[in-house]
Order: sequence, then C-alpha cells, then structure tokens
Amino acid sequence: MELYSGYINKLIEELSSLPGIGNKSAQRLAFYLVNQPKDRIERFAKVLTDAKEHVRYCSSCYTLTDQEICPVCANAKRDHRMIMVVENTRDMTAYEKTGKYEGVYHVLHGAISPMLGVGPNDIKLKELMQRLQDEVDEVIITTNSSLEGETTAMYISKLIKPTGVKVTRIASGVPVGGDLEYIDEVTLLRALEGRVEL
Ligand code: ZN
Repeated sequence: MELYSGYINKLIEELSSLPGIGNKSAQRLAFYLVNQPKDRIERFAKVLTDAKEHVRYCSSCYTLTDQEICPVCANAKRDHRMIMVVENTRDMTAYEKTGKYEGVYHVLHGAISPMLGVGPNDIKLKELMQRLQDEVDEVIITTNSSLEGETTAMYISKLIKPTGVKVTRIASGVPVGGDLEYIDEVTLLRALEGRVEL
C-alpha cells in the first residue's frame, strides 16, 4: 500500500534525486510545496525553466552565465594571461568574493575520477588547452585537495608542461577534501599567494 498519493510520491522522488536532499528532507519539501498557493508554485516552475533556458556556458571560461561571454572574461581590466583552473562555478565565485584575484578563470565542471568513471574528456580540459593557443603566462590549478582534485591537477600539469606555460598549484593550506566554497577568504588568498610551480 502506498503511504502517500501517487503525485506526492513522484514529487518526493524527484526532490530526493537532488544533491544533498535525503528522503526525509524531500518529504518535508514536498509537503511544503503542495501547501503553497498555486501562483507561487507557477512562479517557482517558471524560474526553473527560465534558468534552464537562459543559463549557458561562457564561450571562453565555461562558467555558467546569462551571456555569450561572462562578466569576468568580458572585463578588459582583468589579466587575461593568467588563468585559474577551478572545478566548478561555485569555486570561481569563492575566489571572486575575495576581490583580490585579477586574472581570469577556467571552469572544468568536475574532476577526473577513475572510480566514478569521469575521464579527462568528461571535463572542460580540451577547452582549456585550446585557450593556451593565446598568450598565457600562468595557469593556476586550484582543484580540491581530494584524490580527484589532485589527480586532475597532476594530469593538467603534465598536459601543459610541454607547452612551456608556467603551471602552479595553490598551497596545501586548503584542508584535505575541503570544498573551496566552504573555505574562508583569508585561507583562499593565503593558498593563492603560496602557490608553487609544478
Ligand atoms: Zn568567462
């Protein structure tokens, strides 16, 4: 016997498929949502579909943006010869929040993980290599200090070394397995300043 209506069950199932949402949270959210006025739900649904429709990858750094080129890449005052490689847009935001980094970024959208079946072709690596055709002085790798992040850093450095572009890695002041976005600005900046050449 089903405990809830089929529609509720479907909603719970959908919600619990989201990252970080367990079954209990999904149930709580589902009941919250069905108790909202209809127009609120319609607005919510529209925000979702609008975001999906309009958000795209920046054609240069691959961060998520509403425009062809994101505001950072479009900014002529930024140092376009310095590229910071991050795992995702949230990591980029973490560095942007410090307001102290003047270069540009490259968003990989993941990290190499043989265990999860994520290979070099599954992240925006080819795209990074393409950007090195332009004048680039330094590539700063800030992937997480998890196994996947370290694997990715090694892989990228091996790939870039032959091109003669300087490759650096942020200092290991960033806690192991720590997601960049949870780290405070001071630690982020210290890690950036203490970066070492690979
Ligand atoms: Zn961009």
